[in-house]
Amino acid sequence: MAVREKPTFNYDLCVACGICMHACAFGSIEMTHTGVGKMKKAYPALDRPDTCTGCRQCEQQCPVGAIMVKV
Ligand code: SF4
Ligand code: SF4
Repeated sequence: MAVREKPTFNYDLCVACGICMHACAFGSIEMTHTGVGKMKKAYPALDRPDTCTGCRQCEQQCPVGAIMVKV
């Protein structure tokens, strides 16, 4: 089976808007308080990587280019 591409998040750029979570039709992304970003907000994480198809919707809809979908 081919290795599927997955999103990685640049938390230096991420503004914690949640668009990527809503963009994902597979429920793969959750917003969680993991302390990774610069604000006291919930930041995105690939919560359910098994459900991610590598479709790049999250990458395409992120307004600040904080997501890269790659192997
Ligand atoms: S690549 Fe597609 S399936 Fe995977 S997290 Fe992004 S929007 Fe969801
Ligand atoms: S869409 Fe981009 S800026 Fe918004 S939460 Fe997702 S990664 Fe962060």
